[in-house]
Amino acid sequence: MSVLVLSDATFVLDPGAYFGIVPREIWSRQFQADERGKVRLSTNLLLVESGGVHTLIDTGIGPWMGEKMLGIYGVQGLGTLTGRLRSMGVRIDRVLLSHMHFDHAGNIYSEELIHSTVVVQRRERYAFSRTNELTRGSYLSHLASVRRVSVIEGSSNLGGGIRAVHTGGHTVGHQAFFIESGGREIIYAGDLFPSSFHVRPGYITAIDVEPLVSLTVKKKIIRHAIRRGSIMVFNHDPSTPTAVLTGDEERPKVEAVSIE
Ligand SMILES: [Zn+2]
Repeated sequence: MSVLVLSDATFVLDPGAYFGIVPREIWSRQFQADERGKVRLSTNLLLVESGGVHTLIDTGIGPWMGEKMLGIYGVQGLGTLTGRLRSMGVRIDRVLLSHMHFDHAGNIYSEELIHSTVVVQRRERYAFSRTNELTRGSYLSHLASVRRVSVIEGSSNLGGGIRAVHTGGHTVGHQAFFIESGGREIIYAGDLFPSSFHVRPGYITAIDVEPLVSLTVKKKIIRHAIRRGSIMVFNHDPSTPTAVLTGDEERPKVEAVSIE
């Protein structure tokens, strides 16, 4: 079994959306806003190989945004993931989506992923097909025609050492993945922990549709990760993609580690 962190395009978000209630005085110690006042996020994904089966966890942005959205989100480096997969000669068998926001599901129609099965929570598939004024901007409508979706519900053992757990919080159908690799657990908890800065339980994005659910689930995951020495993956963190947590649940400390 091997686990690799891959990255796709980068993009920018308004700090208000990304840091929620956290004041600028706090987040600006760790992040620098650009000339438009926005902060840049990466898209860190996981490639898991087990028994010859290649699983990709989340997919990045993909080449599907119109000019207007590309401008708003300042997207750079489109095609990074697909270029890397081509150069590695890897064919992806299945894609696991933490949720269906554009920066996670955007590449599922790319040629390199077209043959893969896409695994999402039932509730996420529903939320995606029934968007409202609050959620519409985060989902790409062209994905509505996705046919090769495999829907799961709640917690599910997906084989290859990967377990999916429905979390809700960021979206109603958001899920986290727990991967057993070489005696160590790796946790990919999507946008509940977009960066190492967001390890504080109350540091929740303003996009979360169920912030109190996020709070409860984050505390649970933090406690679990500290106790087990699990490696956390921060999918939007440009400088610390993977780390272990120490200390206590209220103010966990982050120690960067590599999973390779
Ligand atoms: Zn995201």
